[in-house]
Amino acid sequence: MSAVLETRGLTRHFGAIVAVNDVSFQLKKGELLALIGPNGAGKSTCFNMLMGQLPPTSGDVLLEGQSIKGLKPREVWRRGVGRTFQITATYSSMTVVENVQMALMSHHREIYRIRPYAHQQHRAAAIALLDTVGMAAQADRHCAVLAYGDLKRMELAIALAHDPTLLLMDEPTAGMAPKERVALMQLTADIVRDRGVSVLFTEHDMDVVFAHSHRIMVLNRGELIAEGNAEEIRANPMVQEVYLGG
Ligand code: ADP
Ligand code: MG
Repeated sequence: MSAVLETRGLTRHFGAIVAVNDVSFQLKKGELLALIGPNGAGKSTCFNMLMGQLPPTSGDVLLEGQSIKGLKPREVWRRGVGRTFQITATYSSMTVVENVQMALMSHHREIYRIRPYAHQQHRAAAIALLDTVGMAAQADRHCAVLAYGDLKRMELAIALAHDPTLLLMDEPTAGMAPKERVALMQLTADIVRDRGVSVLFTEHDMDVVFAHSHRIMVLNRGELIAEGNAEEIRANPMVQEVYLGG
C-alpha cells in the first residue's frame, strides 16, 4: 500500500543555513507520527513545505503517490491536508458551532454567509463534529470566552470539517497546561483510530510524545537522525546525546 504522505530528499536552504537536509520519510494510513527535535531543528520548515507554504530547495512531497510540490497552500488543503495552527485563527465574535458551520460551508464551497443564515446550515453536522472533540455542550458559547484548551479542541473540529486524510499539527499543545496537553493528544489519538486519519505532529513534551505516537522521527540540525517507536527512541544514543547535550 502506498503511503499517505511521502517525502523524498526534502531540502530547504535559507541563504547559507540548511534548515532541512535530505529528509525522506513515509506516513502510513491511520498513523500518528511525531516529528521531534530541539529548537531550530527544522520541524516547522518541514511542515511549511508539506503545506505548500514554502517551496523546497530540492526534493519532493507526495500525497497518496502524487507529487504536490509547487502547489499553493489552498490546493494542498483541497487535496485533503488539514492543519491546525500555532495561533488559533477563529472568528471570536461568533459561537463555537458557528465557527464549525463556517468551516463546513467552506468545505462544501458555499459562499460565506454572515449570521443569522449561518444558524441554519450544517448545524447538525457541526454539532456532531463538536461531539467528536467533546465540545457539544459548549456549542452555543461565544469563542471569546473559551478556555485555551477548548479553543484548541474547537480548532480540531474545524480541521475535521474538511474531512482531511492527513492532519498536520505543528506544536498543537503549545501554551497548554500539562493536563490539557495530554487530553488533546488523547483526543487526537482517538480521532486517528476512529476516522482513519493520518497525523504528523510536533511536540515538545516527551511524555506526550512517548505516550501517544505510533512512531517517532527525530530531526537534528535539519537531518533525520533516528526513527522508531517510543522504546527505540528512548534507547537511541544519538537521541540521548541531542536531548541531554542540547
Ligand atoms: P524548529 O521548528 O524545529 O524549531 P525551524 O524550522 O523553525 O525549526 O528552523 C530551522 C532553521 O531554519 C533555524 O536555524 C531557523 O533560524 C531557520 N529559519 C526558519 N525559517 C527561516 C526563514 N524564513 N528565514 C531564514 N531562516 C529561517
Ligand atoms: Mg517550530
